[in-house]
Amino acid sequence: MTPGAGRFAPSPSGELHLGNLRTALLAWLFARSAGRRFLLRVEDLDRARAGAEEVQLRDLAAVGLDWDGEVVRQTERGALYEEAIARLTAAGLTYECYCTRREIQEAPSAPHAPQGAYPGTCRDLTEAQRARRRAERPAAIRLRASVTDWAVTDVLHGRYSGLVDDFVLRRNDGVVAYNLAVVVDDAAQGVGQVVRGDDLLPSAPRQAYLAGLLGVPVPEYAHVPLVLNPAGRRLAKRDGAVTLRALAAAGVGPEEVTGLLLGSLGLPATLPEALTAFDPAALPRDPWILDPQDLTPRR
Ligand SMILES: [Zn+2]
Repeated sequence: MTPGAGRFAPSPSGELHLGNLRTALLAWLFARSAGRRFLLRVEDLDRARAGAEEVQLRDLAAVGLDWDGEVVRQTERGALYEEAIARLTAAGLTYECYCTRREIQEAPSAPHAPQGAYPGTCRDLTEAQRARRRAERPAAIRLRASVTDWAVTDVLHGRYSGLVDDFVLRRNDGVVAYNLAVVVDDAAQGVGQVVRGDDLLPSAPRQAYLAGLLGVPVPEYAHVPLVLNPAGRRLAKRDGAVTLRALAAAGVGPEEVTGLLLGSLGLPATLPEALTAFDPAALPRDPWILDPQDLTPRR
């Protein structure tokens, strides 16, 4: 049986920077080295900026990545998400939530609720209470979770256990939540391996738990180290020339960028050589600290 596909799923909120490109290269290497298909999915439910998708796809191709099949966009898949929410609702696994952010912050937390968990304010309202609150504010849809934590296995992190609360499935502005969309999409696309930045590791237990409720397979996870700036914060565009466009303007071409990113992973400088040498067990486990100034020495 062919193993499930790998994927890269950028949000088209702007240009990809070196951190995003490094994660994309890793996702590709993980997939291709294991004979998996490699899919691209545009996560455009939120924060999409016009034209960003085209630039992102061009940049991914410029660093040498290829992908299989059509690029999928989340905004075209609303029916799939609604079908999943309807299925959970029919099973009694959702409820409406009318809380504002502030109400959630100020609510006394439930006796056994872990820190940061939704306090359960709307979980057991009567039908009359619901009708009253519904008239005041559009409802979000939350999952009725029956656990408070869940464990996943990660290729780089081993067993990881994390918080599962009654997380939002559909926000009160009607936008489907990331945690739901990602689980539905990965299942529908036959994704068997999720490689992404380790800032998303804490969301993996929620997603794996939800996958179980929906009766779909939990993918293999590999949460890879991020790129940080010298101050120890996640690399961002304000840190300097960190996009392909900015680097090209400074005389650093895409092939050089690929070589640099692969070098930061302890791999040879071209993609075919890196693919041959790729070994997940040998990957660095710590973030890559990058000072963008070092990339563009005055030439
Ligand atoms: Zn609520």
